Amino acid sequence: MIIDFHVHPPTNQFISTLGELFEPTVKYFRANFKVSDYKSFAEDLKNEGITKAILLPIISHLKGGGRIENEHIKEICNSDPDLFYGFASFDMNKDYLSELKYAINELGLKGIKIHPQLQVIRPDDERLKKVYDFADKYNLPIVIHTGITGIGANVKGGGGLKLDFGRPIYIDNVASEYPNVIFIMAHFGWPWYEEALAVAYHKANVYIDISGWSPKYIPNVVIRYMDSLLQDRTLFGSDYPMIRPSRIINELKQINLKEQTIKKILYENALKILNKL
Ligand SMILES: [Zn+2]
Repeated sequence: MIIDFHVHPPTNQFISTLGELFEPTVKYFRANFKVSDYKSFAEDLKNEGITKAILLPIISHLKGGGRIENEHIKEICNSDPDLFYGFASFDMNKDYLSELKYAINELGLKGIKIHPQLQVIRPDDERLKKVYDFADKYNLPIVIHTGITGIGANVKGGGGLKLDFGRPIYIDNVASEYPNVIFIMAHFGWPWYEEALAVAYHKANVYIDISGWSPKYIPNVVIRYMDSLLQDRTLFGSDYPMIRPSRIINELKQINLKEQTIKKILYENALKILNKL
């Protein structure tokens, strides 16, 4: 079994979400992106060895930005309920609590995704309290983007994105106030990975995912933590379609991690989170 905790649907909505930043993002990842229908998307994941995939929506409040709708995520989940688990996003410029209530209670989505840089908000902003209260009440894990983002990379002005919103320490501020909410810091916060490691080690409700990284380029100190203090709180994620999951899985087995660590990262830790949903 392998659970990919960080998957984006390669549909037209994904492209329109990023607007004119789509092309430079694909370039940054040197991704071989092609739009697929739900069926070939599911088949591709299964061929990559994935048993379950957490589908993450994206919403961008930047100029020209768009959204992968929660309904779209739900529709993909319906196409293969054994494979897909859908997470919800919310629009900061609307009644976002009602949106989330609808996504969780009516659509049946299982968690929340926040991208602070695209949503132009710090994770410890007061306006997000409602979101965290809601997550606390309904036992919803939250995946938060941390660190640099490929979106806007190598574009003048970074496409308008401000990296500061991606600092892991802001998650420390909220994780301390919501000890029962699981926070997953996507991409382990590079270049603030030591900060991310400290937060995840200190707060037992905080996890890291290794998505977007080819394991052989993951900094040594992160690998050391993954294999020791954080072996129960590291999750495999790919960032599909930006990186092929099989590449990460294969390399993960080549970087001298303990056998038990690899199992924990590939599915055991994720399973513990999913079983509580
Ligand atoms: Zn992502």
